Amino acid sequence: MHSYSLIAPAKINLYLEIIGDRPDGYHELAMILQSISLADRIDVLSTNNDSIRVHCNHPQVPTDKSNLAYKAAELMARQFPEAFAKYGGLEISINKQIPVAAGLAGGSTNAAAVLVGIDLLWKLGLTQSELEELGATLGSDVPFCVSGGTAIATGRGEQLSPLPSLDNIYIVLAKYRSLEVSTAWAYKTYRQEFGNSYVRDTNDLVARANAVHSGEIVKAIFERDARKIAEKLHNDLERVVLPAYPQVLQLREIFANQEGVLGTMMSGSGPTVFALFESEQQAEQVKLHIREAISNEDLELFVARTITHGIQVASSV
Ligand code: ATP
Repeated sequence: MHSYSLIAPAKINLYLEIIGDRPDGYHELAMILQSISLADRIDVLSTNNDSIRVHCNHPQVPTDKSNLAYKAAELMARQFPEAFAKYGGLEISINKQIPVAAGLAGGSTNAAAVLVGIDLLWKLGLTQSELEELGATLGSDVPFCVSGGTAIATGRGEQLSPLPSLDNIYIVLAKYRSLEVSTAWAYKTYRQEFGNSYVRDTNDLVARANAVHSGEIVKAIFERDARKIAEKLHNDLERVVLPAYPQVLQLREIFANQEGVLGTMMSGSGPTVFALFESEQQAEQVKLHIREAISNEDLELFVARTITHGIQVASSV
């Protein structure tokens, strides 16, 4: 095979709790991550030269060495120099459908797809956990994006524990195209405002992270009860993002007042807001209502559903 075409799904956070500081400067987190059907398509192609090139159809996405897909390819070339020499360079095309800087792990899922694509292209035979380990060096969300589905993520977000998969919960996602929230800003501001309530003792940190496994939302996921899951949605970062971004707060309030909405929350560090539904029809209806209520062309709305997988091969040539 000379090329693989991969589907790279976005994620939403059903739960995000900030527990404390870590010695490495990151935050200790307890999250529940969920793959959704909104996805990018990534083509990874072997070329005859020794360079790595990235193309993307989205003007906001860099195509230089700062692109996470480029970094993933560079990592593989460094880790497997013999395979890189044997199979030659790489051409990576990103067909971007996931909104950028949106709290949906768009860059991370692209990196995960490149790891999976190169593993197949170079016939490396890496296991899922080896791919996840490589992914963790690129970003905290990359390991989850490799395997996807529904999972508890602790540590920086890279320690995964799979949960029973949820399919067919419908979602409406809303994001202002020109509104970006820096993940670094959101965490820094949270530390400034709420750092004095952080758990400090290392044993307590671990205990709090473990407590998520027996939390109400995890029980609801085991019961596959969409209503209960929606009642228990949580995101600590809303405490800093909603006051600073009135447009995000407005979306949260509008969703909360729509018929058929089981629950609504901001994803990750935002600014995407999502709402959960039992049926696709209800989701489509609320999407229409919001489009009518907010006559701003900058507002992007998507209907998606929960899915049970991460990176998937669409085709190979
Ligand atoms: P997360 O939920 O993991 O915090 P995000 O959805 O908030 O991620 P991304 O879409 O990954 O954010 O984009 C964050 C920044 O990363 C963008 O502003 C962009 O410049 C840069 N970036 C680098 N590579 C990519 C990529 N392949 N796709 C999207 N953005 C990328």
